[in-house]
Amino acid sequence: MTKKLYYENAYLKNWTTTVTNVIHKDDYCLITLAETAFYPEGGGQPSDSGLIDNIQVLDVYQHDGEVYHKLPHPPANQAVQCQIDWELRYDHMQQHTGQHLLSAICIEEYDAHTSSFHLGKDTVSIDLSVPTLNDDQLLHIENQVNKAIIENREIKTYFVSKKQAETLPLRKMPDVEGDDMRIVEIDGIDTSACAGTHVSRTGELGLMKLLKTEKSKGNTRVYFIFGGRALKDYQATHSVLITLANQYSTNREGLAEKISKLETENKQYQREIEELNGKINQFLAQELVESSNRKLIVSSFEDKSLKDLQGIAKEINEISNRCVIFTTSLENKLLLSHNGSIPLQCGQLFKQELKNFNGKGGGNNTTAQAAFNNRNDMGAFKDYLETKINETL
Ligand SMILES: [Zn+2]
Repeated sequence: MTKKLYYENAYLKNWTTTVTNVIHKDDYCLITLAETAFYPEGGGQPSDSGLIDNIQVLDVYQHDGEVYHKLPHPPANQAVQCQIDWELRYDHMQQHTGQHLLSAICIEEYDAHTSSFHLGKDTVSIDLSVPTLNDDQLLHIENQVNKAIIENREIKTYFVSKKQAETLPLRKMPDVEGDDMRIVEIDGIDTSACAGTHVSRTGELGLMKLLKTEKSKGNTRVYFIFGGRALKDYQATHSVLITLANQYSTNREGLAEKISKLETENKQYQREIEELNGKINQFLAQELVESSNRKLIVSSFEDKSLKDLQGIAKEINEISNRCVIFTTSLENKLLLSHNGSIPLQCGQLFKQELKNFNGKGGGNNTTAQAAFNNRNDMGAFKDYLETKINETL
C-alpha cells in the first residue's frame, strides 16, 4: 500500500521513491509508488499535477486505498524523482482550507450549513442551507473570515480513532472505512473530519473575498476566493478601474457619477437623433412624392434601417395615396406599404411568394416587411413585386 506523504506533510514538494507497479493501457499507463505526496482527487479537492522522472502526471486517483498515477508512458527506472506542481497544490490548499473557515463562520453567524463544495479552475463555491443571505449578512461573513485570517490561528491535522472522534466537537460524523479518522482543526473555530491538504495557519489564506451568490434548489450558492486567487482578482479589478478612470478623466470615486452623467447625455443625444431622423424622413418622403406621378414608388437605400424605411413610408402614406417598395442594403430588408387606398393585400402576397425568394417576413393588409440573406434575393423579390403591382394598378 502506498505511504501517503500528503497526510504527514502538506508542504512536501520533492521526494525520491520507487515504482511498485506499472499497469499498461492503450495510450497511457498507471503506476503506483512506495510513497506519494501526489494528492488524489477527493473531498472536493482536485487531484495534484507534477512530474515523475520529468514525465507529466496526467491524473491521480485513489482506489481501494491505493494511489494511482496516470502517465503518458512509464518511467525508465524503478527509482524515481517526484515533483509536485506547487503553484497548483498551494492554490488548492488555500481554497480548500479557506472553505473550512468560511463554512464554520457561516454556521456560527447564521446557522447556514454547507451541503456541497466545488473547487474548480475558475470558480470556487459552497452551497449553504439557507434560502438567501442579504448584503449586510454577506459583508459580515466576509469581515469575520478575514478577521480569523488576520488572527493567524493554528491549523492542525491528526488522526483519531472513531471512538476518540466521538469526543470531538464534530458537526457531522463522516462515514469512513476503518478505524482511523483524519481531523483538521482550526484553533478555536472549527473541528472537521477531512482527508485533504491544508495550510498550517489561517494567515496563509491571505485574504478572502465573496464574489456573488445565486439561488440553487432552495439553497444559496456562494462564490468566493482566497489567497493567490483573491490577489489576482484584486489586481485585475484594479487594472480595469484604473483604465476606466483614465479613459473618463476621473478617479475611482468619481467613475460612477461620470458614467451616469454620460448616460444621461447619451439619452439626450438619442432623442435629438430620432428627432432629426424624423425630419430627414419627412423631407425624403416629400421629395419622393414630388419627383414622380406614378402610383408605385420604388426606392433602394444603402444606409437606412428598416425603422427609417417605415418612417419614410408612414410620411408618404399620410400625404399621398401611393404604394411604396423600399429596400435597404444595410440590413437586406424590404418594405411594402400603402395607406389602404390600393386594393393590395401586402401580408397575403408575402405569405404566398416570399419563400420562393428565400425571404422571411410577413405583415398585414397595408404593410409587410421581409428579411433576406443576400442582396440578390432581395433584388429579385423587389423586381417581382414591382411587375406584379404595376399589373394590378
Ligand atoms: Zn479539508
